Amino acid sequence: MAKLKTEQAPITELTNPQPKKARRLKVLSTSKLSSNQQTIYNTNATTSPLLKLPPEIRNRIWGFLFGGKIVHIQYEYTRPGRRMVHFICQVPNDDEDAAEHITHHNELDGSPDRFEIYRSRHQQCSGSGTVKRTSLPMAALQTCRQVHEEAALLPFQRNEFSCALITLGPFLQSLFQSQARAIESVTLHCRHPYRTITLKKLVKAKLKALKALTYFVEMSSDVHTNPTLHPAWSECFAQTEAVAATSATIVPYVPGQGDAGFMAPSRTTMREWATSFSKTMVVAQD
Ligand SMILES: [Zn+2]
Repeated sequence: MAKLKTEQAPITELTNPQPKKARRLKVLSTSKLSSNQQTIYNTNATTSPLLKLPPEIRNRIWGFLFGGKIVHIQYEYTRPGRRMVHFICQVPNDDEDAAEHITHHNELDGSPDRFEIYRSRHQQCSGSGTVKRTSLPMAALQTCRQVHEEAALLPFQRNEFSCALITLGPFLQSLFQSQARAIESVTLHCRHPYRTITLKKLVKAKLKALKALTYFVEMSSDVHTNPTLHPAWSECFAQTEAVAATSATIVPYVPGQGDAGFMAPSRTTMREWATSFSKTMVVAQD
């Protein structure tokens, strides 16, 4: 694999926005290396058993280390404020399986096909009881300049990012441009038709490499969130219009596994609704 060019500062957290004045964009610029630094880099490159491996092998190692995960992004509330954190999903089957399962349920007309709703499935991932929360090994990127140059964007390119729709904007704003533009897969979950005046612009500007977009939409029997009655959903989804290069999937469901409930949308309604909006999110092919 070709060497990835990087221009962002080493990071210890995926989501650790610095104050605007302190943010540096080109820490890795090689134009001003001291002779001492150059000597260290040369020594590392020629003596480290890891760095002496062929680039293809190192890239595979970086892929195993930094990629292949679902990464949850969410706010953690602390006193006196809140901070954005990330942690690795610990659910054994992935969201793709869950999406297919719910989609299959929506295609049925008979008794409900049991499935677990998004927030229940991922409840354990944030760490509770004996389950320990785990993060991406971002500190490994700080061990050596060459490691950082080769792998700094892989955590963004090779993982699926999962967050509440309401968190997407702040998450994208917390990243350097090159980091956000490396992201290829995003899964969003929402229970209400959330929208802001800036999110669409932000998504267009930041998610330039997005291939796959998935929404898990928890429907309610409440008149205010029933898709057949509330046009705000179309405004909500318009924020991610034509952003996914390969696929977009909307997975609507009613908690409680069934179609019961006053004003809850039927499976037929949800199926048609999801199909029509999904199409609008994929980049048109010439
Ligand atoms: Zn999870």
